Amino acid sequence: MQSFYPSQVIEYLYCPRYTYFEYVLRIPQNEEKFYKVMRGRELHDEKLERNKEYLRKKIGVKQKFTDQYLGIEGLRGKVDEVLQLKDGTYAPLDYKFAVWKDKIYDTYRQQLYCYAVLIEETFKAKVEKGFLVYTRSKHKLVEVKIDDTAKAEIKNSMAKMLLIIEGNTFPKATKFKKRCVNCTYRNICVK
Ligand code: SF4
Repeated sequence: MQSFYPSQVIEYLYCPRYTYFEYVLRIPQNEEKFYKVMRGRELHDEKLERNKEYLRKKIGVKQKFTDQYLGIEGLRGKVDEVLQLKDGTYAPLDYKFAVWKDKIYDTYRQQLYCYAVLIEETFKAKVEKGFLVYTRSKHKLVEVKIDDTAKAEIKNSMAKMLLIIEGNTFPKATKFKKRCVNCTYRNICVK
């Protein structure tokens, strides 16, 4: 059974053909675009920066589980922190070794949505939000709403990725044509 990482789901959401080129034809892409975001974790000093008491005060944390390697059917990944909140819901928290720039990147949101899917199934609990901590902006804490539509989109993407990989199906191109401009696959991608 194929098991995806959040980064692979994020690629699919960017353009379904990435999944095809990368996992059916096995043509590696220049990973930089996606992974520089995910990889913002040369977190040599991250561990020192963690465990701030602000968490409990600000968001009502009842219990915290750190560095959780979670895996469910079709999806796996490591969550920096899984928080059990006082209202009984759970929430993923992810540290970004980055400066807060007044906007949450889609990739960051999608990563949290994937974590929400992992947590709901693993902990048998509801996830309604997640948190990002920007370590280079004085640990700015940003809340990200996670609704049922967002989680359904992740599950739906996982199913479609399986169809592409197991069925060798060439998917439709992304609707966003400007994504093609700098795409690694633009020379081999039939429009
Ligand atoms: S060229 Fe466009 S459609 Fe083709 S893989 Fe790249 S982003 Fe997707």
